[in-house]
Amino acid sequence: MYRLVCVSCGASYPPDEILYNCTKCGHLLAVRYDLPALAVSRKIWDSRPLSVWRYRELLPVTIEPVTINEGGTPLYHLKRLGKELGIPHLYAKHEGMNPSGSFKDRGMTVGVSMALQLKKKSVACASTGNTSASLAVYAAKAGIPAVVLLPAGKVAVGKVAQALMHGAKVISIRGNFDRALEMVHELCLSHGLYLLNSINPFRLEGQKTIGFEAIDQLGGVPDRFVLPVGNAGNISAVHKGLLELKELGLVDSLPMMTGIQAAGSMPVVRAIRENLPEVIPEGDPETVATAIRIGAPVNAEKALTAIRTTGGLAESVTDDEILAMQRDLARKEGIGVEPASAASVAGVKKLIEAGAIDRSERIVCVVTGHLLKDPDTVIRQCEPPTEIDADLPSLLAALRL
Ligand SMILES: *Cc1c(COP(=O)(O)O)cnc(C)c1O
Ligand SMILES: [Zn+2]
Repeated sequence: MYRLVCVSCGASYPPDEILYNCTKCGHLLAVRYDLPALAVSRKIWDSRPLSVWRYRELLPVTIEPVTINEGGTPLYHLKRLGKELGIPHLYAKHEGMNPSGSFKDRGMTVGVSMALQLKKKSVACASTGNTSASLAVYAAKAGIPAVVLLPAGKVAVGKVAQALMHGAKVISIRGNFDRALEMVHELCLSHGLYLLNSINPFRLEGQKTIGFEAIDQLGGVPDRFVLPVGNAGNISAVHKGLLELKELGLVDSLPMMTGIQAAGSMPVVRAIRENLPEVIPEGDPETVATAIRIGAPVNAEKALTAIRTTGGLAESVTDDEILAMQRDLARKEGIGVEPASAASVAGVKKLIEAGAIDRSERIVCVVTGHLLKDPDTVIRQCEPPTEIDADLPSLLAALRL
């Protein structure tokens, strides 16, 4: 029902070939379905609970999937923040509400299921944190070993805790994420582990369901989708899914795909701004938003296409803007997210203030990971708790009552 097709030269490969790059030109592969032959029906989808697996006809898995109920995340109407910005239709899809606390679970439920379907015995990834946490969870559920490579000292503590507790073999390398990915890629090619970074075409199939769910929750296609961009897998995945819905005749317009990066790590933003044919990698990316601290985004080619062909935008935000929005989401909307996630909404604020976005647009921001992933960055921004003696006068004094 599907083939693996090179996103650049169009070469096509059978679905069970274990391949991450085109053997003819080296570019990435994507799953291409024979869409007219699929038994996709809105009615069947509507009869199932909101989740990744509601859309299983548009996923490559044919075995019983490895699942712990991923997806089905809330879509919040940001009324207070929207009012402040003068945009009445601002929404956030809270992907931090997935089982391991980030959207990576959508990719891993499909990716680890495919590992079993392809008869692989072990899985691996490089990670800025969330991919490793999620892979550890799904490998545990599948009962197979996982190896994860992290950039030493640059991973938020909650994410490392998850990878360790769920039983992955956790390796910290004295190098950055981009180097970790090169190393794990080589390891997988030479030793047969199944690679589950976002160069894996099946993982992105799971992630595209963010777009499907948002449309179902909103009751229609938003004008704009805004995502934080690291490796650019997620923005590419959501775009791919929406193209499929359009081809199937289930939607008749596409949202403007808009990517937000941190100012210290913004190769995609530069490429859009300077109208470059491809991104120029940054050797030394730096940002408080460690989940998007990536200088050489592997899915950049697809992301540039997604942004350009939909008339979308790319913008960068400073660490201060990211942290201010993390606090605003927490204090004005009750939404707790990690710094990278706040980048999407911070980017909307910046674009609105610059007059680059029409205020009447219906905008869905993907907020990608949970607040508790990175407690250190939270605690650094907040007043510490007030410690008092255990008596009522001290309490009243502390509350100035
Ligand atoms: C992985 C991740 C991102 C970046 O997604 P890409 O697909 O790499 O662009 C953003 N935010 C969080 C919380 C993440 O875990
Ligand atoms: Zn090719």
